[in-house]
Amino acid sequence: MMNKEIKMSKFAHVTKVHPCYNEKLHDKIGRVHLPVAPKCNIACRFCRRSIGEESCCENRPGVAHHIMKPEEVEEYLRDLIKKMPNLKVVGIAGPGDSLFNKETFETLEIVNEKFPDLIKCLSTNGLLLPKYAKKLADLNVKTLTVTVNAVKPEILKDIVDWVYYEGKVHKGEEGAKILIKNQIEGVKKAYDLGLVIKINTVLIPEINMEHIVEIAKTFKDTAYLQNIIPLIPMYKMENLRRPTCEEISRVRDECEEYLPQFRACRQCRADAVGLLSEEKHLGGEGKELN
Ligand code: SF4
Ligand code: SF4
Ligand code: SF4
Repeated sequence: MMNKEIKMSKFAHVTKVHPCYNEKLHDKIGRVHLPVAPKCNIACRFCRRSIGEESCCENRPGVAHHIMKPEEVEEYLRDLIKKMPNLKVVGIAGPGDSLFNKETFETLEIVNEKFPDLIKCLSTNGLLLPKYAKKLADLNVKTLTVTVNAVKPEILKDIVDWVYYEGKVHKGEEGAKILIKNQIEGVKKAYDLGLVIKINTVLIPEINMEHIVEIAKTFKDTAYLQNIIPLIPMYKMENLRRPTCEEISRVRDECEEYLPQFRACRQCRADAVGLLSEEKHLGGEGKELN
């Protein structure tokens, strides 16, 4: 087990410049999401994909105006760097599951080769992480967000309807078991390969509120940070309630005993661009909008 201070300093080279790992940087450092990954391999009950079948893991479920193709990425980033000299982080956060789309890897290769100075970041549900952790490390991905909403199958089955894995759909508890196992195994593997890991957790008061501390305990040695975000009641969870600010803050306090908590998340869209204090995203033609 690694002492907290050692863990913090081991990763300081990344966390010093990444706004999603350092609240103080939210209005100083720019980052962009490349919405190249539309498909998802699990079915979260709160997630409605808003263009075709898209949605996203990391963020306000699933809004990206268009899906970018890997071949558009180089030009897009070159233009953006001219306008945004403080751009430091390039993230792929869906809008589906990053690891389930080959375009993610094509994009990472382009960014790695053409823009070696930008920090590459990824968010995923973790189902395919045991398979791809090494590939991500080889592509110089430094930071990884894994969304974990429960570590007990009997709870996760009420959050995720099914999991598509190795050519088969696994429903209910059976699917939940596979997802949890792969998340734990994948995060450990990524951690051993030197990636800095953030656990995102959606707080759903009626389902996982009293259980989230178990998630923090499970990842206390392998993750760097936890980001607990409130449910936005949508889709099959539209009749559930959002947590109150007091509930969010109580759960964060409980979890903080095991994992440092990120408290400034504003649930960016999958195509978010710019400083986190701004609210820009891509327009229909790939332009920035305010
Ligand atoms: Fe939606 Fe992300 Fe869940 Fe997939 S993993 S269903 S994109 S929230
Ligand atoms: Fe931040 Fe997540 Fe995007 Fe990475 S993928 S830049 S952690 S929001
Ligand atoms: Fe990620 Fe939240 Fe920061 Fe947005 S505000 S970049 S979703 S951690």
